[in-house]
Amino acid sequence: MVGIEALPFSSTDRETMLAKLKSEEFDILIIGGGVTGAGIARDATLRGFNVAIVDKNDFAFGTSSRSSKMAHGGFRYLKSFEFGLVKESEAERNWLRNDYPNLVRPLPIVAPSFEGEKYTMTILKLGVFLYNFLDKGKNFRKGYTVKDINKVKEMEQGLTTNGLRGFGVIYDTNIDDGRLTIESIKEAVFSGKCVAANYVKITRLEHDAAGKCCGAWASDQEKAGDEFLVKARIVVNATGIWTDTLLQNKPAGYPAKIIRPTKGVHLIFKQEDVPINNGFGITSHIDGRFYFVLRRENHVVIGTTDTDYKEDLDGPACTKEDAEYLLSTVRLKFPGAKADFEHMVGSYAGVRPLAAPRVKEGETPSESSVSRNHEIIRSEDDLVSICGGKLSTFRVMAEDLMLKEVLPLAKVKIPGKTFDSKKNIARKPYLMGMTRQAFDAEPIVKEFATSGKLDGEQLAHLYRQYGKAALLILASTKEEPKLLEPIVPSEPSKYAPWILAEVTFTVLHDSPVHLVDILARRLEIQWMVHPSKQAAAARLVASLAGSMLGWDKARQAQEIKDYLAYVQRNSFFYDKPLE
Ligand SMILES: Cc1cc2nc3c(=O)[nH]c(=O)nc-3n(C[C@H](O)[C@H](O)[C@H](O)COP(=O)(O)OP(=O)(O)OC[C@H]3O[C@@H](n4cnc5c(N)ncnc54)[C@H](O)[C@@H]3O)c2cc1C
Repeated sequence: MVGIEALPFSSTDRETMLAKLKSEEFDILIIGGGVTGAGIARDATLRGFNVAIVDKNDFAFGTSSRSSKMAHGGFRYLKSFEFGLVKESEAERNWLRNDYPNLVRPLPIVAPSFEGEKYTMTILKLGVFLYNFLDKGKNFRKGYTVKDINKVKEMEQGLTTNGLRGFGVIYDTNIDDGRLTIESIKEAVFSGKCVAANYVKITRLEHDAAGKCCGAWASDQEKAGDEFLVKARIVVNATGIWTDTLLQNKPAGYPAKIIRPTKGVHLIFKQEDVPINNGFGITSHIDGRFYFVLRRENHVVIGTTDTDYKEDLDGPACTKEDAEYLLSTVRLKFPGAKADFEHMVGSYAGVRPLAAPRVKEGETPSESSVSRNHEIIRSEDDLVSICGGKLSTFRVMAEDLMLKEVLPLAKVKIPGKTFDSKKNIARKPYLMGMTRQAFDAEPIVKEFATSGKLDGEQLAHLYRQYGKAALLILASTKEEPKLLEPIVPSEPSKYAPWILAEVTFTVLHDSPVHLVDILARRLEIQWMVHPSKQAAAARLVASLAGSMLGWDKARQAQEIKDYLAYVQRNSFFYDKPLE
């Protein structure tokens, strides 16, 4: 129908991928299937490289499914004069909005200025001016400031006007970070030049007689004892917060540990409980930090925090203290909001892979002052590592790595083969990208809209998440009408638009291995649905996915148990058993 039936990336393809990993030699092995590794895979295949990409867990398991989920310029980085970073991020946001319009959705953000706060109207005016100026007027809307308090009352009835001096409005976008990651990997796979496997952990690097990196040892996390060598001319370490584990032989001048991990949490509410029309950037009454209260369709996402993190990198979670810090200011600024634990729907936490700044001995910069710029390091054994940066700039990070380190290395290590060194090679439309207008004009969409088989919320959701692939999902329900059933029937579709056809689609086209992959990183159900409703959804999805993947009753039960344990770890606000 849209040509993607022939472009599967099915869970059952994993064995084929593993066989290739074991037998082929690659131009590049990318360790880490977060958005950074995914962007490198997409860029590298467009340049003609044969690539392998592996992740020790699921794709997007790390920070790339736990961000604030915005492709944005980074308004707050203007404060630290990071104009280059803001300009670059705004340009990337604009590209993504144009070339992946269903996934990258407009998000107006109101930044109010209150008496006694550091962001005066003069500062806001300057900030909005710079934000407009740095993106050269290419954003979909221009930011502005307003001093008239009555305007606020018209726009946002929930915001207190106590001490309000005025506000600025900027335009950014929201995104599903996990979906961006998986679609970037899929584009590399669809090129025919990329082998991608999740649950493959790199345990150590392989070196040739000259001491240079020529591959890495991998272990299949799904089959105990299955260890094998992945041969590659060039090895890239894109492991985010885990960078230091593989990074040895650093050139002189770098600190012992490159990564300075800081934790950020998010809280999710229904929009009826935190009634805002736009997104907000507010300053904490506790320490003056800037953070977001974001509108995400019919939910509100509040975050984030920024605190040094020394615990388990694989399992960061939001605590009561993290949440209280965020909620206390929200209650002051939105007095009618039910911003309490009782009304909370979900929470999640992520850890930033910030590159530790090189500072003088004895100095410790604050968490928020650590730059969001990326760092590329070529070790003495030619391992190329990349860390820091942002989700929004993943394409330029990939390109920077390719042009500065990989292409020069390829000249020496892959003689006789030529690769494209063009700038902006990956600045092109995503295969699944689609405008809403084009979607609505499709006969199958018209048919579903008029027949009432799916309501407006469900159709809009399918469009946003899948773009062109939504047409395939709709078509699949014609053959099997049962797939139209909702995954969370106990919630109205405005809060839970997911249908069973998304599960069959994701198993056939997104390569999940476990139930948690489907519910946490492919469908967003884990953090958008209250814990009390998770067990029923898990049972339904495990049964359907299990029937496609050959899971027997015991395996289904184990998948459900593991998933609910994951949900529980992220639900400090709900102490009842999940069953
Ligand atoms: C709270 C928070 C909010 C944020 N909000 C935004 C935002 O709104 N917009 C924005 O632009 N940026 C945002 N960021 C930053 C952005 O999310 C990160 O910069 C980005 O996701 C990092 O991606 P990554 O691929 O480098 O790391 P990760 O996504 O962590 O990927 C690294 C991967 O490497 C794998 N791995 C590790 N070790 C091995 C091994 N030995 N073998 C195989 N695989 C391995 C891991 O499993 C992991 O999947 C935010 C970050 C945080 C923490």
